[in-house]
Amino acid sequence: MVSLGSLGTSMAQEAHTYTIYVDPLPDWATNNAANVMEDTITAWHNANPNINFVLTDSPQQQYDFEVQWIKDNTGGQWAGEALLASHIMQVTLGDSMCQSTWFPYSRATLDKTAEHELGHLLGLGHSTDPNNIMNPDGTYFQYGTITQYETISAAHNYFAPTCAGFSSNSFSYYVSSSNKNLAFDAYVVPSAQSQTDFNNGKMFESYPSCTQATQNGWITTPLMTCNNVPSTSGLFIIMKDSPSLSNQLTTLTMQITNITPPPSFYIPVLPITQQTQQIQPQGPSSPSPYQGVMPQDVSVDVNPVILTDDKHVQLITISGGVGSNQNGEFELTITDENGVKVDDRYLQPSSDHNYQLKIPITSKYHSGQYTVLLSYQGNPQSSTTFEIINQVTTPEFGSLAGVIIVISIIGVVIISRRFRFHF
Ligand SMILES: [Zn+2]
Repeated sequence: MVSLGSLGTSMAQEAHTYTIYVDPLPDWATNNAANVMEDTITAWHNANPNINFVLTDSPQQQYDFEVQWIKDNTGGQWAGEALLASHIMQVTLGDSMCQSTWFPYSRATLDKTAEHELGHLLGLGHSTDPNNIMNPDGTYFQYGTITQYETISAAHNYFAPTCAGFSSNSFSYYVSSSNKNLAFDAYVVPSAQSQTDFNNGKMFESYPSCTQATQNGWITTPLMTCNNVPSTSGLFIIMKDSPSLSNQLTTLTMQITNITPPPSFYIPVLPITQQTQQIQPQGPSSPSPYQGVMPQDVSVDVNPVILTDDKHVQLITISGGVGSNQNGEFELTITDENGVKVDDRYLQPSSDHNYQLKIPITSKYHSGQYTVLLSYQGNPQSSTTFEIINQVTTPEFGSLAGVIIVISIIGVVIISRRFRFHF
């Protein structure tokens, strides 16, 4: 092996190169998601010059890790996950938790998530240092540019939340009316209370420095900037009162771009042993179901989650894709080695024919082997097995109806049958 310098550096390591297969970005992804992995590997390489990364978009090539893109974090606890057993990191690109509309995460959020999850794949656990990218509590969710629409008539008003995630936020915005006869005034207000006050005939609070007055109302505002407003803030739009136009409608377009500087984190230097870890090469592989380009396949991939972020609840993640012509629910059962069903539930794949299910590992999952079976209209489609061993009870997480069990998984067996449908 190459030895550099003195005895003290006899451990000097060779440069190690990881190949990362990056799933193609889905159609619905925004520009925010472009080149996230390029940023991520640059950040890790800069902090660890002995580590090189090669990104590939070819599943035919052998690789060390795979990056999957997940659409919606709504109801989930993480913006990302590292599935160590599967050598996969998942990055969620947005959620529907504001206005029940899917909005994309900001580029800074995506970079931060990807950098954190890659750290797990490189062998790191969590850090208690709040500035370390591996700190799980430093997670923040920030939307990128969000666009809201509202159809409204004259003399009505509307509150559009900024969906901002920090206690103090800066953003730019504009508002536009599709009907040039229906003008409006636009205010930035601290909360929806301003709308209530206005509708009760009271004075309402607003931020004058964020609001540009106009004598006859706006049809389209200029691009405005507003700094240091709370997460409850929003745009309050008051349509001008024009009785002669009361039968007309307009669609307001409200675009808000969060420009709050994100917190900065540093990338840690990996211990030498982890800089040179040997990864069992993956692939060539079937394309990931998340690509959405192979809708005719049904597959189950069980990725037992060894690392959990934030909530520290151990989950089994079951995900895959179904046929584009298979509408409706799939039944998913999990059976232990004695044939006892421990889970039986129905899955509703999303409109892009993918599904993902996270099942908490509660005390009913004893050590042993389990079989996952996916059925459609009563017909078995695909099955796979996994094993839970070495349970350790962690009482501090006992709040989730029973005892949460920390699992460690050695030698996961995955048998996945794939079915192709011809119609
Ligand atoms: Zn983590």
